[in-house]
Amino acid sequence: MTELQDALGTGSVLLDPDVTAAYARDQAMLAPAGMPAAVVLPRSTADVVAVMQVASRHGVPVVPRGAGSGLAGASNAVDGAITLVMTRMDAVLEVAPADRLAVVQPGVVNKALRDAVAGVGLFYPPDPSSYDWCTIGGNLSTNSGGLCCVKYGVTTDYVLGLEVVLADGRVLRTGRRTVKGVAGYDLARLFVGSEGTLGVITEATLALRPAPKRPVTLAATFATTAQTGQVVERVVTSGLVPSLLEVMDNTCICAVDDLLKADLDRGARALLVAQSDAGGEAAAAEIAALADLCREAGAEFVHTTDDPAEGDLLLTARRMALPALEQLGSTLIDDVAVPRSRIAAFLDGCDAIAVQRELIIGVVGHAGDGNMHPTICFDPADDDQRTRAYAAFDDILELGLSLGGTITGEHGVGAIKVDWLEREIGPVALDVHRAIKDALDPAGLLNPGKVFRRVQVADLAAVTGLVGSA
Ligand SMILES: Cc1cc2nc3c(=O)[nH]c(=O)nc-3n(C[C@H](O)[C@H](O)[C@H](O)COP(=O)(O)OP(=O)(O)OC[C@H]3O[C@@H](n4cnc5c(N)ncnc54)[C@H](O)[C@@H]3O)c2cc1C
Repeated sequence: MTELQDALGTGSVLLDPDVTAAYARDQAMLAPAGMPAAVVLPRSTADVVAVMQVASRHGVPVVPRGAGSGLAGASNAVDGAITLVMTRMDAVLEVAPADRLAVVQPGVVNKALRDAVAGVGLFYPPDPSSYDWCTIGGNLSTNSGGLCCVKYGVTTDYVLGLEVVLADGRVLRTGRRTVKGVAGYDLARLFVGSEGTLGVITEATLALRPAPKRPVTLAATFATTAQTGQVVERVVTSGLVPSLLEVMDNTCICAVDDLLKADLDRGARALLVAQSDAGGEAAAAEIAALADLCREAGAEFVHTTDDPAEGDLLLTARRMALPALEQLGSTLIDDVAVPRSRIAAFLDGCDAIAVQRELIIGVVGHAGDGNMHPTICFDPADDDQRTRAYAAFDDILELGLSLGGTITGEHGVGAIKVDWLEREIGPVALDVHRAIKDALDPAGLLNPGKVFRRVQVADLAAVTGLVGSA
């Protein structure tokens, strides 16, 4: 630790367990977590290089961390490892309107970047619901999505170039500032979604878009999941591209209504909220067409508005789904994406799991891209409930895979779905993952135990023993 303090200064290296404990875990209750041997807060790429050089010299594992808002335990501490917290590297280095891009450090909070580029009429679309505290480094490393993915895609769609400090301390600069570019493998995107297992991102060049136009909003309720699913399918087949299409099930509707006293339709099986930012008459026409689809499917209630304040109020119901479910107990938030044609089957399947496991499960999700967040509410102090909650979490993953979906649409594999990755991707893809990891991090120092198993338990014990004596 003295080497780290010499290189970065004592103010950047935290050793007091009462302080470092705050960096032990993210927001995923289910995930295992150790205790950091040290928490290091670098201020520059040179600091990160120094940390990785010390770490690789001594064989000490390093867990990169952003804001810790993750929902998969991906930045959870590993016993004996350094937790490398990137939040002090929080500068927007450049906004270049003529090239429609921004260059940022990884600790920039998503909303800070959105605000900075909005000032010059530009837009950074990826908008995880945690956008007011999660960092761009975390977004890149989990390939975050959000509400507007249905139209604008996910984080990887905005990555032009990256600076990454590799496990051995070398600095890789990859990617470009140009709109097009195919020189060599697309290494920048290899790091996107790699959950801190391949390198530490220290800078990102991100594409921007023109600011969206004033939105028109729709809310509609349905008596059945089949009607809800039909609308989503018809949106896709009719070529409509709303900028947002979200769904909440009855459990979420009632929980939000209890919390906000918003006079929601508590009898509805599902609520859809949609927006179009196509601008002016185009947005009105798009939402009118969507309203027609809802009525044709048998919607009980359809409301549209071009008043942004009222639109925000309708969106608030969706945004408050999680805090509302938190009133019902501790929450385990799952993250399964299914083909959009299977959304109704997925909602019905979650209901059946809730009945079978005798638990409350509310489903809120990005209907436009099929990414659903079934949220299990339970009392963690009750052993039996906790066991049933964990079992329901797995049931939901099983259900998602059986419908042709994926075990994670945006939160990542982290520490909680390691056992599920091979089931989804198969042994050949897992071998390719391991080969890439071996090429970039042969000693397995970066974020061990996350995404897939690589380090033998005996090896890790040897490594952590070494750190313990440092
Ligand atoms: C209420 C709530 C709502 C959410 N909504 C969404 C949503 O809509 N969409 C969505 O995608 N996610 C959502 N999330 C999950 C979470 O906010 C995202 O995964 C986010 O991208 C994590 O960012 P972070 O800065 O908190 O990263 P952390 O949680 O600290 O870390 C996440 C991963 O990134 C790695 N990492 C962080 N910084 C770096 C770096 N500089 N270099 C290399 N690796 C790094 C870590 O090792 C870890 O693997 C939500 C979370 C909460 C609590």
